Amino acid sequence: MSKLILEQVTKAFGDFYAARDISFCAEEGEFVTLLGPSGCGKTTLLKMIGGFHQPDSGRILIGEKAVNNQPPEKRNTAMCFQSYALFPHLNVSHNICFGLKQRRIALSEQQSRLAEALKQVGLENHRLKMPAQLSGGQQQRVALARAMITRPDVILFDEPLSNLDAKLRESVRFEIKELQRQYQLTSIYVTHDQAEALAMSDKIVVLNGGSVEQTGKPEEIYYRPANRFVADFIGAANIDTAHIAPAEQPGFYRVRCGLGEFYVRSTTPPRAEHCYLCWRPEDVQFISQPQKGDNHFTLTLDKMAFMGNLTEAWGHNDTGLSVRLQLLKKPPVAPGERACFRLPQDAIHFLEPVS
Ligand code: ATP
Repeated sequence: MSKLILEQVTKAFGDFYAARDISFCAEEGEFVTLLGPSGCGKTTLLKMIGGFHQPDSGRILIGEKAVNNQPPEKRNTAMCFQSYALFPHLNVSHNICFGLKQRRIALSEQQSRLAEALKQVGLENHRLKMPAQLSGGQQQRVALARAMITRPDVILFDEPLSNLDAKLRESVRFEIKELQRQYQLTSIYVTHDQAEALAMSDKIVVLNGGSVEQTGKPEEIYYRPANRFVADFIGAANIDTAHIAPAEQPGFYRVRCGLGEFYVRSTTPPRAEHCYLCWRPEDVQFISQPQKGDNHFTLTLDKMAFMGNLTEAWGHNDTGLSVRLQLLKKPPVAPGERACFRLPQDAIHFLEPVS
């Protein structure tokens, strides 16, 4: 497995930029997810890494070697598609060995690698079945084994779970992650499913309109979103504008926003006095009475939905500002009534300046 680097990679179709100035790297054995809404350029990037599209500018390096001018068959990458792309007329073993045959690998080597690959994905007892005789999850495992058996420098996954139902998605997600971790596969994984990205990735590259919005570990992306797009796309967020001034104590700020005045602790200082801020709906707590020094605000509840592990609620304050809440316990308040909530000092994150 090798390190993959993209340096300022750009690709336009006519005058439309599908990818603009994209830079990121995947270390050896790292699982990097390209995450973003439909049309943001994820597949275009994956195809450029695989050699199916040429970048207009920028460099792609695999194992520190620029591969821009290499055709797909000369790059040691393997692709796993959402449609599995299995050959319907070949059985499991022949499907898995397809790439080895093309590379004219010796038969004895093919056989020993096949035995290992079948074991890795737990399909030893299905080796002679045809694709149509397999479940969706098993077909995806064949596709994974076919990618792994060529011992690629980088594996490229194009939404491999999107054809599976919700339950199976979760179990195959863990299987892929476990194989990736065990065999230290350098992986580039494309999805628009934020839960999948957060659960599987070592690093996430958030894309929007062909550009990178933020790159970071799942926790960084979730807890310290760089801007409104990331805050809103990953999880749910309450976003507002605020005037911010430093407080007496270093690392603390006085914040005036649509919900009131708050005392905020932040290790990242705001980029301007007038910024956007966000906080997660699960950060608030219902309180019957605010304590001295609490950041608190009052809402009239509009609606509530019991979700099992939490209660979703929406409310508005006296200025009409709408707020979304996720509470561990259903508050003893009915829609139409007013309730008080506490926002911890470190729950607010500063985003980009208001222009
Ligand atoms: P999805 O999640 O829907 O698959 P994506 O993020 O993978 O989307 P891409 O397939 O990379 O998006 O496409 C990015 C943009 O580039 C889209 O607006 C698409 O229409 C455009 N595009 C992609 N391939 C071509 C092409 N061959 N010719 C013209 N435009 C293209």
